[in-house]
Amino acid sequence: MAAEFINTPIEYLKGVGAHRADLLKKEFQIFNYNDLLRLYPFRYVDRTKFYKVKEINETLAFVQLKGKIIKTQLLGEKRTLRFVATFQDDTGKLELIWFQGAKYFSEKITPHIANEYIVFGRPSEFNGKYNIAHPEIDLITSETPVLASALQGVYNSTAKLSTRFLDSKGISKLMRTLISLPSFKIEECLSPEIISRFAMMSKEEAVKQIHFPNNIEQLKKAEFRLKFEELFFIQLKLLKQKSTRETTTKGFIFAKVGNFFNNFYNHHLPFELTGAQKRVTKEIRIDMGSGKQMNRLLQGDVGSGKTLVALLNMLIALDNGFQTCLMAPTEILANQHFQTISELVAGQNIVVGLLTGSKKQKHRKLIHEQLRNGEMHILIGTHALLEDEVQFKNLGLVVIDEQHRFGVAQRAKMWAKNTQPPHVLIMSATPIPRTLAMTLYGDLDVSTIDEMPPGRKAIQTIHRFDSHRDRVFGFMKEQIALGRQIYIVYPLIKESEKMDYKDLMDGYESIARAFPMPQYQVSIVHGQMKPEAKDYEMQRFVKGETHIMVATTVIEVGVNVPNASVMIIESAERFGLSQLHQLRGRVGRGAEQSYCVLMTSYKLSADGKLRMDTMVRTNDGFEIAEVDLKLRGPGDMAGTTQSGVLDLSIADLAKDSQILFAARNMAQELLSVDADLLQPENAPIASFLKSMNRSNTNWSKIS
Ligand code: ADP
Ligand code: MG
Repeated sequence: MAAEFINTPIEYLKGVGAHRADLLKKEFQIFNYNDLLRLYPFRYVDRTKFYKVKEINETLAFVQLKGKIIKTQLLGEKRTLRFVATFQDDTGKLELIWFQGAKYFSEKITPHIANEYIVFGRPSEFNGKYNIAHPEIDLITSETPVLASALQGVYNSTAKLSTRFLDSKGISKLMRTLISLPSFKIEECLSPEIISRFAMMSKEEAVKQIHFPNNIEQLKKAEFRLKFEELFFIQLKLLKQKSTRETTTKGFIFAKVGNFFNNFYNHHLPFELTGAQKRVTKEIRIDMGSGKQMNRLLQGDVGSGKTLVALLNMLIALDNGFQTCLMAPTEILANQHFQTISELVAGQNIVVGLLTGSKKQKHRKLIHEQLRNGEMHILIGTHALLEDEVQFKNLGLVVIDEQHRFGVAQRAKMWAKNTQPPHVLIMSATPIPRTLAMTLYGDLDVSTIDEMPPGRKAIQTIHRFDSHRDRVFGFMKEQIALGRQIYIVYPLIKESEKMDYKDLMDGYESIARAFPMPQYQVSIVHGQMKPEAKDYEMQRFVKGETHIMVATTVIEVGVNVPNASVMIIESAERFGLSQLHQLRGRVGRGAEQSYCVLMTSYKLSADGKLRMDTMVRTNDGFEIAEVDLKLRGPGDMAGTTQSGVLDLSIADLAKDSQILFAARNMAQELLSVDADLLQPENAPIASFLKSMNRSNTNWSKIS
């Protein structure tokens, strides 16, 4: 059977053998034919084009040359052993160098006036001259084929693979062997209907063309086919999970809006809701009243007012006789939520509790009891909420703030806190591009707050070089004189924690010198402090007792100090865009004009420059997220690390949004007419989906 063909262990392929098979497994996780076929070229080069030595410049990633070898030398010994061949065409000379397999190549390549070679490789410059390390080299003989296809795939390889002659050329050779097997067969995985709708190539043809394209048109078609297929199956899987969950999991029905909500809404609402807040609150309320179990993502830029929306819906849970909890990723943030919410509901007979890792056992015991006997209405906390002793009498709604900090398994734990799973509202403060949302949260319903509370002045963002620090200090003093507070943030990146910590401390000292006591009060908060100490410093800043808060990124998420109007970000070039945007969102929360100052050194990479320019240009988190996606790719963006769905082998969420939308629509349409994929023409789809599920964890039970 064909399915067996692609599952054939890789060592069965001629030219692989035990040793190379081992390397392929270790280096590329290639275990069978299918894995090998999914190692796609990362680029294509035109092998009919020959360059001249004189034409080589730094913009050429690969060159193909034709000429003679005029001199060879075996230099160095043992570990420094290398083979150097001087290549020449009618325009000039260049050196070809082999560090690996030096002996082998020294025997194979000899200077001979009659021999002409084709050389292919990546030129690099050294001492003003170009050379090519580890080129592909072929002696031109009467048997050298005239290349029919101009495009040749270039594959990623590794140093280890190259030593076993599995460089790009070696991999290509294996691919050729595999595709030429008489038994080669790739089973179709889409329905005839879909294939004809998009005028697609068959899967088998696409696999052949992606490795050995006949021409550019065929390559484009092959790419489209494989990208579409990859995205289509991810979407199909997500949508199917969603519909399975909806049919198998019953949700609590929050039928009414009662006193808790109405009393708050009519008498204690601190400000008029924005149109967007009203709209999403309604979406959530309707969902929780529908009989299905809600799994909803609430998206909204920093400062768009998600907390209030969460609270309103928590009150609806109370109105229906349920308890509710709000889980935040950090202690500071949990404290802040506890304070905000306690104040908002003060005097309304609502019991709010706080549970975090640093709470004493006695306090915990009391909370556990109040939760079990139903006295406590709202519990706010950190990961501590996930602990087994935390048991509710009747938990109806779980709100998770800053979702990306929690893993899938942790979310699953919340499900088990009631006999029937509670409604789940996930709040994400990291705006993400639509393509990414569709893929990461494709099985969730999404509500988006796309409007900021009124009266906010847009934050002014400025980029300053380190040498202008004195002027920045002067500006800070002006702001402090106006009664404002200031954040100064230093990067803290795991691997270099020690050095970053030193930067932070040096920074703190220089700030303390420039802003001497008692006129100025400076707080410091960082990850190596005890939670109580952090909290103490944070509280001093919140209360307005200190003017400047020097911090690492611990303040990145969620802290709300409306009087803080200046955010200074040190070494801003070391932060990613979404992080910069998050940090900036800590200011601009009050009525005053706020500022964000990005401090960098003069030395900025092109990416770094683009990041600074983007921050200066726009305050729109979604727009920033789009740039971020283009710069970093989906794998590195916030929230994606714990997600397996982003192991894309050919599609690119930054570039292939149109294909993704088409694939999602198609998946939706398909499920609406054949939810269980039982129609005969959809059999290929059903069987491919099944094989996918076999090789993956089953996420379907998790929100
Ligand atoms: P985020 O969406 O980042 O979690 P918050 O919920 O912390 O935002 O709200 C940010 C600030 O905006 C808070 O100070 C909050 O009190 C205020 N806020 C929220 N909704 C409104 C509104 N409708 N009108 C005015 N201010 C609001
Ligand atoms: Mg928030």
